[in-house]
Amino acid sequence: MSEQKVPYKIYLNENEMPKEWYNLRADMKNKPAPLLNPGTGKPMTAEELAPVFCEELVAQELDETTPFIEIPEEIRSFYKMYRPSPLVRAYCLEEKLQTPAKIYYKFEGNNTSGSHKLNSAIAQAYYAKKQGLKGVTTETGAGQWGTALSMACSYFDLDCKVYMVKVSYEQKPFRREVMRTYGASVVPSPSETTEVGKRILAEHPGTGGSLGCAISEAVEVATSLPGYRYVLGSVLNQVLLHQSVIGLETKIALDKYGIKPDMIIGCAGGGSNLGGLIAPFMGEKLRGEADYRIIAVEPASCPSFTRGTYAYDFCDTGMICPLAKMYTLGSSFMPSPNHAGGLRFHGMSSTLSQLYHDGYMEAVSVEQTEVFEAATQFARIEGILPAPESSHAIRVAINEALKCKETGEEKTIVFGLTGTGYFDLYAYANYNDGTMTDEIPTDEQIAASIAKLPKVEA
Ligand SMILES: *Cc1c(COP(=O)(O)O)cnc(C)c1O
Repeated sequence: MSEQKVPYKIYLNENEMPKEWYNLRADMKNKPAPLLNPGTGKPMTAEELAPVFCEELVAQELDETTPFIEIPEEIRSFYKMYRPSPLVRAYCLEEKLQTPAKIYYKFEGNNTSGSHKLNSAIAQAYYAKKQGLKGVTTETGAGQWGTALSMACSYFDLDCKVYMVKVSYEQKPFRREVMRTYGASVVPSPSETTEVGKRILAEHPGTGGSLGCAISEAVEVATSLPGYRYVLGSVLNQVLLHQSVIGLETKIALDKYGIKPDMIIGCAGGGSNLGGLIAPFMGEKLRGEADYRIIAVEPASCPSFTRGTYAYDFCDTGMICPLAKMYTLGSSFMPSPNHAGGLRFHGMSSTLSQLYHDGYMEAVSVEQTEVFEAATQFARIEGILPAPESSHAIRVAINEALKCKETGEEKTIVFGLTGTGYFDLYAYANYNDGTMTDEIPTDEQIAASIAKLPKVEA
């Protein structure tokens, strides 16, 4: 098909939208290592997970053999309100860069929550409702996940309790108001509403809180209040499963025009958007049907893949959650307070960790100022104000397109544009004022938190 025929935006009709999620683990020869019970060192069973998570989500978490799982009708109806998300051909960016590369991005910021997180929030809220629960609890750091979950809960008339890291609660009052508008209760963490919160406040008066602490509070409330469960917005297998809708739509859209990408690029915090975007492509790669370069981009300030250790670790700083085998910087690792809020997680999805370990994907880390340089360039050329997290992928996509300019290769690049940056304007202000810095942990800092990894038999 001739080049001109590819429109600026490739949309799908409602009846072309995916009806099933794709479970990448079904095609992996080396399955991701199971979650372990930190008390016994044995794999977590469905019974052990049931008091914390919704039943059906536990089943999805543990299912590593079913390749396709039906997207329930109710979730598909909700998806239709903001999906399919556009796959955009970045003609303007290509022109500006004077590159022979063809650049496409899948834009997930086209909903009120402003990111891809709604794709899994609506699924998790649906299963909680179906189980007859009253509500769910969660933590939020940067605020995108809490916003998405409050939207999903209001749709299904579920109560939603969000523990928001205190510094972020104070610095991002507008995010908090969006959540409250959707009916969620938002509590700054650590708080006096939980035992663990009271303990932490007594030990560290005046603390601004952390994600790990907020998780501990949310889990305590979920397991002590009848009719409540805890939900998580990234890292877990179930979240990657729901996010596969991103990759499936991308593949259907590309196939319509006979386009085969050479490389697929995404930012990686806990791994959910990247795992979702690459899912069907990685499936083909695992089955030996096609080959793609797959690149995870992480901040140099929190480099789990590129400088982490592949080992069992806690998912939270509070050390109450199950152990996951993943590339980790150690659960006590404290990334410097940089602006890519949603990428500041010490670990990584165990599915992506296994794929990276087995050589199916690459990872690179990029520094904050070069990320904002790419974000600003992208905003000016393509019009969308990108989230700082998403801009990590933009940076590497532009770098790869510039390499093509040197070599003259017409590579096709697809990257994930996970969200918009309207709530990140302090970060943009820092960049515009020239006060933004690049913080990179030393080898000693990383070694110190790695030394505290839990001891687990191989
Ligand atoms: C949360 C978030 C991310 C990172 O999370 P993943 O689970 O790695 O996808 C990236 N971009 C945006 C906009 C986010 O909100």
